[in-house]
Amino acid sequence: MTEAGRGPSVRVRFCPSPTGSPHVGLARTALFNWAFARHHGGTFVFRVEDTDTARNTQESYDAIIEVMRWLGFEWDEGPGVEGPHGPYFQSQRFDVYADVARRLHESGRAYHCYCTAEELDERNERARSEGRAPGYDGHCRELGAEQVEAYRGEGRRPVLRFRMPDRELTFTDLIRGEITFRPENVPDYVLVRANGHPLYTLVNPVDDALMEITHVLRGEDLLSSTPRQIALYDALAEIGVGPGHTPRFGHLPYVMGQGNKKLSKRDPESNLLGYRERGFLPEGLLNYLALLGWAIAEDRDVFSMQEMVEAFRLERVNPNPARFDLKKAEAINAAHLRALPVEELTDRLLPYLQHAGVLPGHVEDGQRDLLARATPLVHERMTTLAEAVDMLGFLFVADASFTRDPADAAKLLDADGRAVVGAAHDALDRLTTWDTAAIEQALREALVDGLGLKPRNAFGPVRVAVTGRRVSPPLFESLELLGRDRSLARLAGAREG
Ligand code: GLU
Ligand code: ZN
Repeated sequence: MTEAGRGPSVRVRFCPSPTGSPHVGLARTALFNWAFARHHGGTFVFRVEDTDTARNTQESYDAIIEVMRWLGFEWDEGPGVEGPHGPYFQSQRFDVYADVARRLHESGRAYHCYCTAEELDERNERARSEGRAPGYDGHCRELGAEQVEAYRGEGRRPVLRFRMPDRELTFTDLIRGEITFRPENVPDYVLVRANGHPLYTLVNPVDDALMEITHVLRGEDLLSSTPRQIALYDALAEIGVGPGHTPRFGHLPYVMGQGNKKLSKRDPESNLLGYRERGFLPEGLLNYLALLGWAIAEDRDVFSMQEMVEAFRLERVNPNPARFDLKKAEAINAAHLRALPVEELTDRLLPYLQHAGVLPGHVEDGQRDLLARATPLVHERMTTLAEAVDMLGFLFVADASFTRDPADAAKLLDADGRAVVGAAHDALDRLTTWDTAAIEQALREALVDGLGLKPRNAFGPVRVAVTGRRVSPPLFESLELLGRDRSLARLAGAREG
C-alpha cells in the first residue's frame, strides 16, 4: 500500500495567495503536489487564496499564472478549468464562509470573543511575567448573557473564536512522522474578524474540506497551524461540511539560502520569473526544485519530470532543511540543455535572441538557417539560454552596429595585435574556398608558421576583431558562418584600429 492509502482517490491543492512575486518555495510546493497527484493518478486543484484584499495584487496573480504555465503545471480544477467544487477564487466564496462560520457558532464549536486588543496584550504580558505560555486564555468561552449584554452596550463587536479541545493533539505527518501538540501551545484562535472578514484560519480548512482534499503538502512554516486545522476539521465534520475525513498532512522542508538563513521571498535567487529571463529551461529548473527535499536515487541528480512522477514517493522526502545552491541549479540546467536536440535548442534560443534585439521579431529564413548552423557551436558551452545573446550576437548584428568589447579590444588589438589581424586579413583574402578547414589552414600558415606566433597569441586578436570578444564560439567555424565579406570587413576595420 502506498502513502495515498486506500479510500478516496488523491486530491491535492496548490493554494497560493497572490501577493508579491512568485518565489522558489512556491514552485517547490506546487511541484511536489503536482508530482504526487500525477503519481497517484489524482487531481491537482489550484485555488487562489485572495481574501486579503489589502495585500493581493492582479500583478502577482498574473505572475503566478505565468509561472504555472511556464513550468507546465496543468491543473485539473481551478481558474479557467471549472470543476465540481468551484469557484476556485476564495474572494468569490465569502457567502460560503459566512454560512460555515454561523454554523460553527451555533454548534458551540466557536464562540464570540469580545476582548479588545489592549486586554489581550495585558493578559499576555501577565502570563509571560508569571511564566505561563501567552496566548488566548479562554476568557470569553462561557460568557453569561449579562456580560454579553454589557459588552454590546459598550459598543464592542465580537470576533468569532474557535474552541480548541483541551487535550493533546497528535497526528502523523507524512514526512516527519508523529507530532504531538500540547493544548497550552495551541490556544483558541480567531476565525472571523469583528468586521465579519473571515481569516486564513477558517477559509483554508473550509475549502480543503469542501474541495475534498485528501493530502495537504505544504511548507514547514505552516506546521504550527496544523493542530488548529485538524481540530477544525473535526468540527466541520460534525456540522456536515465536507466529506468528513481529515486530510493527511506532510510538511516539506525549509529551503536555506546564503549564510544558512531561510531563503527569503525577497532574495533575488528566489524570483522565479528571473530564471526564465536568464534562460533556464523549465525542465532544468523543475529538476533542481525537485532536489530541494527529494531525491530520485542516491547518485543521480538529472532526471525528467516524467521520471520524477513515476518515482515520487513521500517516504523519500527528507524532513531536514534543503540548501539552495545556484551553482548546482545552473549545472543541472546545463545538463538539460546538452540533452536537447539541436533543432529544439535553436527553437528555444530564438525568443531570447529576439528579446535582446539580436534578431528581429520577424526572422528571415537566412537568419534562421544561420542560427541553426551556429547553435551546435555553443550547445556544449551554455548554462542558460540567454547566454546565446553574448555568444552569438556577433553573427546577427548589422555590420554598421557591430562593436567590440572595449577592454578586450584594448588588450588584444594593440599595435602588435593589429599587425596580426592585418596578416590574417591578407591570408584569408587569398582564399578561394571559404570553409572551416581552409580558414584554419590559411591562418595557421600565415600566423603560426609565418609569423612564428603561439596559437593563443595568433588567434586572440583575430577573435576579438571578428566576434568582438575574447571568449567566443570556436574561431574557424565562427569565421565560416560569418562569411567571407563580413569577416574580411571586420578584419580590415580592426587593422585600421
Ligand atoms: N495561501 C496560503 C499561503 O500561501 C496557503 C497555505 C497552505 O498551504 O495551507 O501561505
Ligand atoms: Zn475574549
